[in-house]
Amino acid sequence: YRVQIVPVWSEQQSFGGAVMVLDDVSEVRRLEQVRTEFVANVSHELRTPLTSIKGFVETLRDGAVEQPEVAYRFLSIIEEETCRLQRLIEDLLQLSSIESQREQPFAEKSSLETALRQVQQLLEPLANEKNIAITFHVEKALPPVPLGPDPLRQVLVNLVENAIKYTLAGGQVSVTANRTVEGVVVEIIDTGIGIPQESLPRIFERFYRVDKARSREMGGTGLGLAIVKHLVEGCGGHVLVTSKFGQGSTFRVTLPLK
Ligand code: ADP
Repeated sequence: YRVQIVPVWSEQQSFGGAVMVLDDVSEVRRLEQVRTEFVANVSHELRTPLTSIKGFVETLRDGAVEQPEVAYRFLSIIEEETCRLQRLIEDLLQLSSIESQREQPFAEKSSLETALRQVQQLLEPLANEKNIAITFHVEKALPPVPLGPDPLRQVLVNLVENAIKYTLAGGQVSVTANRTVEGVVVEIIDTGIGIPQESLPRIFERFYRVDKARSREMGGTGLGLAIVKHLVEGCGGHVLVTSKFGQGSTFRVTLPLK
C-alpha cells in the first residue's frame, strides 16, 4: 500500500484533523516487476546467441579459418545463431505490435478452412520428416472466425508446430475444427512428451519453457504461446491446455462467432 496523510485545517487555520489515504499499489508493483523481468529476459535471450557468434568469429580469425572443416562447422553455428536472433526479434516485434493494437479486434474475419489448409501444406513435411502421423478434420461450411488471415495462420502454425516439435518420432498429431454453441473450436492433440502439471499455468508466459535446452534445440524462442494467447484473447476467444506428462497434450482454441 502507498500511504498518504493529508492534514485538514479548520476555518480558523487551526489543525482540524487528518485524512489518511491508503492506495493499493500491489497491481502497479506487480506490473513493474513483470516488465523488469521481461527486459532482463530479453537481454539474456539476445546476449546468448551474440556471445556465441562473437566467440566463433574470434576463433575463426585467430586461425581456425585455415582449417576448412573446422571453419565450415563454425560458420554453420554462426548461421544457426543468427537465425535464432532473427526469429527472436521477429517474435518480439510481433508481440509488441499485438499489445499496442487494442482496438477493433473483430474488424477482420477469415476462413479457418483456408488457414488450416495452408498450415497443413506448411507443416506436413516437418511431421513426415519426424515420422509423425498428422491428420486434419475440418467440419464442412464453418463460418468465418474473427481474426485476420495472417494472425489466424500464426496461431495455428505456432500450436501445430509445437505439437510436432514436442512429439517423438512415431507419434501422432491430430487437428480438428468444429462448430459448437460457444463458437468454432480448434483442437490440436498430440501424443508427445506432455507438460508437467505444475508448468501448465505458466506455459503461456513470455519466455517460459518447461525444458530450456530442448526448446533451444528445437529452435524455439519461448514466445510462441504468448503470441497465441494474445491473438486469441484479443478477438474475444480463449485457449485452454490439458496435458499428461509423458503422454501428450491438447490445446483447445475457441473463437467466438460474433
Ligand atoms: P518454444 O519456442 O519454447 O516452443 P512456446 O511459447 O511455443 O515456446 O512454448 C512454451 C513451452 O511450452 C515450450 O518450451 C514447451 O516446454 C511447452 N510446450 C508447448 N507446446 C507443447 C506441446 N505440444 N507439448 C509439450 N510441451 C509443449
